[in-house]
Amino acid sequence: MIADVNYILVGPCGAGKSTIMEYFRDRGFMPISTSNLIRAEMQNGGPHAALIQHCAVTADNIPDDIVFSIVKSALHARLDRCFVMESFPYNLAQWTYLKEWLFMLGILSKKVHFIYLDSDLKTSVERLGGRLTCSKCFRVYQLRVLPPKTKGKCDACHGPLITREQDNPETIRRRFDRFESLTKPILLDAARSGYQMVTIDAKRFWSAEPFFQELSRQGVGLRQEVRSRRSSSIEPSGE
Ligand SMILES: [Zn+2]
Repeated sequence: MIADVNYILVGPCGAGKSTIMEYFRDRGFMPISTSNLIRAEMQNGGPHAALIQHCAVTADNIPDDIVFSIVKSALHARLDRCFVMESFPYNLAQWTYLKEWLFMLGILSKKVHFIYLDSDLKTSVERLGGRLTCSKCFRVYQLRVLPPKTKGKCDACHGPLITREQDNPETIRRRFDRFESLTKPILLDAARSGYQMVTIDAKRFWSAEPFFQELSRQGVGLRQEVRSRRSSSIEPSGE
């Protein structure tokens, strides 16, 4: 039987997680991204919309069990497809929820591979700190790989380019530290629990194509095209 492999991307901000999601999207994987799911939950007025709204106002984190519940619903809807996740799990508590649920479904550690995008603070600051956003049309530039034609002005609408709060060096540093202390410990636990891990030196890649070639070279996501349909019969054994 051909193994159906699902993937969990783990890496700090600016390591290229959203770029890699495109690689998997092209290969038929179901993308799971917490921020997109939470946005959809709000827009569709889902069961947790009021709580999410409340957390946004009070600047509290959305409780881990609620985040997991939203992710679980999305996964449950498409158990016939392999998934690829980014920004979830964010911490050990979320990982424990996920790990137990996967186990219950019979999706064992062999079928879930971690991809660790190894990067550092300097790279994050260089990539995200070099981002400029048009204050009028919100087009995004990057000083190194996609600079505007005229300094400080948007190519499309000539609006002034600004650095968003989330791309300030100080904010990037805080996000990076949170990754190190909250998210990275998941990798150690996953390795101890027998999950396979692919490590990619994300510092080397500044554009999508070489990144994708490296993933191919390491055999990531290639089995999806020839996967058996047998996994579509997986049913949860309980809630
Ligand atoms: Zn513009």
